[in-house]
Amino acid sequence: MIDLKMYINGEWRDSSNKEKREVMNPATGEVIAEAAEGTVEEAKEAIQVAKETFESGIWSDLAPVERASYLFKIADKIDEYASELASLETMNNGKPLREASFDVADAAACFRYYAGLITKPDGVTYSVADPVQALVVREPVGVCGLIVPWNYPLLMSVWKIAPALAAGNTVVYKPSEVTPLTPVKLFEIFEEVGLPKGVANMVFGSGVTVGNEIAENHDVNLISFTGGTKTGRHIMKAATGNIKKMSLELGGKSPNIIFADADFETAVDYALFGIYAGSGQVCAAGSRILVEESIYDKFVDRFVERAKQINVGPGNDPDTEMGPLVSKEHMERVLEYIEIGKQEGARLVCGGNRMIDNDLENGYFIEPTVFADVNPSMRIVQEEIFGPVVVIEKFKDEHDAISLANSTAYGLAGAVFSNDGAKALRVTKKIRAGITWINTYHNTYNEAPWGGYKQSGVGRALGTYGLDTYQEIKQININLQVEPIGWFSK
Ligand code: NAD
Repeated sequence: MIDLKMYINGEWRDSSNKEKREVMNPATGEVIAEAAEGTVEEAKEAIQVAKETFESGIWSDLAPVERASYLFKIADKIDEYASELASLETMNNGKPLREASFDVADAAACFRYYAGLITKPDGVTYSVADPVQALVVREPVGVCGLIVPWNYPLLMSVWKIAPALAAGNTVVYKPSEVTPLTPVKLFEIFEEVGLPKGVANMVFGSGVTVGNEIAENHDVNLISFTGGTKTGRHIMKAATGNIKKMSLELGGKSPNIIFADADFETAVDYALFGIYAGSGQVCAAGSRILVEESIYDKFVDRFVERAKQINVGPGNDPDTEMGPLVSKEHMERVLEYIEIGKQEGARLVCGGNRMIDNDLENGYFIEPTVFADVNPSMRIVQEEIFGPVVVIEKFKDEHDAISLANSTAYGLAGAVFSNDGAKALRVTKKIRAGITWINTYHNTYNEAPWGGYKQSGVGRALGTYGLDTYQEIKQININLQVEPIGWFSK
């Protein structure tokens, strides 16, 4: 049994109450590890350590090029342990090894990106009225509280930790209680490269205890959260006490718009990838496919034909194309949504069941599922299901497509498939979402900003915008003629 400990001030720690939480393999239902169940006490301690470490200047005052050298070493170690990290991710999250390996490579690239960026020019000077010279400089924010979900346990963590450390902050990080395996390996790497103790601290525990403490505690200067919109709303409120800086990456119900003039097979192929990659447990999943009415029936038939051929199984089988859901609890939630869809009168044209044949009965597998003939008032069209369940809607024209696309509370991502370049761009510009694609889906780059409009979040991760999140901006005005101002006569 793997015994997982928290990492506070450079030490591996159990929780004060000695409690443990079981960690499961969702493909088999087996317990694979036990993690120390952190409490508010450990969260407070980690925050105090991060505060003192920040104030000591051991990390924040280090030359950017020296901080960068740690980040480059971390990236090299991620590459060195790539196959171990990918196996751990598959074992704990369930995603196929192929997907886990992409995440690991991306995580290394993200550390390299921010290691490079932090040594590039970062300030400006302004010409203002003589005799003053104005400068703008960037500084770290301080203690960053970082809370992540279970769908990309390693990559979501790195999207936050890499820019936060590059900028000179200290970190109190909480992984999802469901998926601590790769986070622990990442912190072992931090220890191995000699990251100064107290710079990066990891606490486990539930959201309502440890997560809430990180969001509320006044010694945390910034909260960066990725997870559900409901939790995001709670965190936003909890963070008001000391007006924390905030970045929220939340849920989605993203439209994938297919025009009749699109390359048909390409559109079907990307639509499958858009929803079933990660078993649909992807914030930017193309969970609403909007199809022009003249090709609707043909599209539904072909999509269903392809969906039925997806090879579902345990992630460590090289033939597997789609893995299980992350937990029993989450599987049950997704199955509930399938029942809601049926009750709402949507036409179930594919899947809809838990998979129990071929030795899958102990895991949390659901068939690729498709609902057709849906309407915008249905819950399965409006709410994030976060599983292998897609709804296929019909639209009449460009205007109708745009209005359907924007008809949910979310605004994370969206895509357009068309061979009319001007139309594709015109429609894409009207989608109220932060991440959009034309004739492709899911491309994500460390260089490009990631985040949502509307209830999909606040702020941006990745790219230069992602570094901005973890920096304060200061103006410095220097008087070049040092003499009294003479504003008051006496
Ligand atoms: P979740 O909101 O339940 O949990 C996310 C994290 O928040 C966990 O670490 C959890 O312990 C913690 N948490 C829960 N309640 C808390 C509270 N009251 N205070 C502080 N922390 C709390 O989300 P999840 O089920 O782990 O992940 C799925 C969700 O994440 C989906 O909605 C998905 O769209 C979203 N997500 C968004 C992005 C993005 O970039 N926009 C990326 C990945 C996942």
